[in-house]
Amino acid sequence: MHLDGAPRDRRSGVGASVLASRLAECGLAREASGTLLLSGVSLAAIVAGVGTPTYVYDAAAIRRRFTVLDSAFGDLPHRVCYAVKANANLAVLRLLEQSGSGADIVSGGELLRALAAGFPADRIVFSGVGKSDEELAAALATGVSRINVESLSELQRLAIMVETGVGSCTIGIRINPDVTTDTHPYISTGKGGLKFGLPLDQLTTALSLLDETPGLRLGGVAMHIGSQLLDVAPYLAGLDQLLAALGTVRAAGHQPTVLGLGGGLGIRYREESPLEPAEWIAPLRETLVATGCTIEVEPGRYLVGNAGVLVTRVLHRKHSGGREIAIVDAGMNDLLRPALYQAWHEIVSVESGEAPTGLLDVVGPVCEIGDFLGLERALPALRAGEHLAILGAGAYGFAMSSNYNSRARAAEVLVEDGRWAVVRPRERLTDLYRDEIADPFADEQP
Ligand SMILES: *Cc1c(COP(=O)(O)O)cnc(C)c1O
Repeated sequence: MHLDGAPRDRRSGVGASVLASRLAECGLAREASGTLLLSGVSLAAIVAGVGTPTYVYDAAAIRRRFTVLDSAFGDLPHRVCYAVKANANLAVLRLLEQSGSGADIVSGGELLRALAAGFPADRIVFSGVGKSDEELAAALATGVSRINVESLSELQRLAIMVETGVGSCTIGIRINPDVTTDTHPYISTGKGGLKFGLPLDQLTTALSLLDETPGLRLGGVAMHIGSQLLDVAPYLAGLDQLLAALGTVRAAGHQPTVLGLGGGLGIRYREESPLEPAEWIAPLRETLVATGCTIEVEPGRYLVGNAGVLVTRVLHRKHSGGREIAIVDAGMNDLLRPALYQAWHEIVSVESGEAPTGLLDVVGPVCEIGDFLGLERALPALRAGEHLAILGAGAYGFAMSSNYNSRARAAEVLVEDGRWAVVRPRERLTDLYRDEIADPFADEQP
């Protein structure tokens, strides 16, 4: 894990070529004038039209990533189910649906979004550790492809609901394979003792519960071991446990047809060497084929992470305690990852491709010390009014944004075929308190 602000951020000459390839990887290029283009469209033109902060997504990049991942399976029966939580904008969902993706959802809200974007129910898988009765009922009524249960208690609730309601449903069991992953502790989800997944020693109890509930059909076994994984080792370790679970359920007379490997495929934010999808699948392939199952994966970050940038405007420049500071109009409420995970995002000037002139702390306007986008970043001279692009912001960017400090959430824009369109307008400040009641007891007699 790279902690931001460490001295290793001071780029040498080598840094320039690293930066150039990073720009290319994110679909960015510079015009002769220095202006930054995303998939051929000027980011300066977009923010001249819609203001800042604004998320801009590259449709072609998302489609390309989907195709690369989908083809990595070759003739192995499989389904890619996009993890909606990474970026839930309807335009992003629609283009993935049209690419042939399924949807992995974790809430009733995501169910509605997936349906609104056009996903057929039979391509929707309901995951998540804490589904409410209302959410389960909505999924049952919709007839989603599968509900992945993660605890005995959830299975019991579902059994009652199925017996008293719809009569039948296909479930999956997400096991907790108890593997450790080399990622940020907040996104390592496959370890025992965490809230995620059914502990393997509870599997037989779950199966007896299934035996008592003829309406529940076991359609799959699955795992999801963590996020931003850069190595195949945890998948191999997890797969061992998953296969053991598959053996157990088959021995008990169930015939699940789906084996779920989860999501978690990492991307490059900085100097990581992420696995290509083909490198991910190749070492697992033989084992997967032997199961005779359809292989399901639930990537979020891989599909959209590097297909989006956050564009922000420099509000003020400041010199304090020996540090140069740029205060920008995007904060932790817009992009939480640096504050929550100490995540590192590349930051580049929108207007200038010139060489760095110094190190800058790029900080937001929110009243928190943790409200920074990047510390000690090598950037060209920047004046108030100029813009910065935060790269790798397509996943867990807007999706994690909030109204903290009563700040309106950013606009979202989609770029495709040289055109751009707003796919979510900037929130209006008056909407932020529209439903609040300032004087709730005003009608009461004294
Ligand atoms: C978050 C999540 C994913 C997606 O993770 P990424 O790292 O974005 O690929 C997939 N499956 C489940 C169950 C999740 O909770």
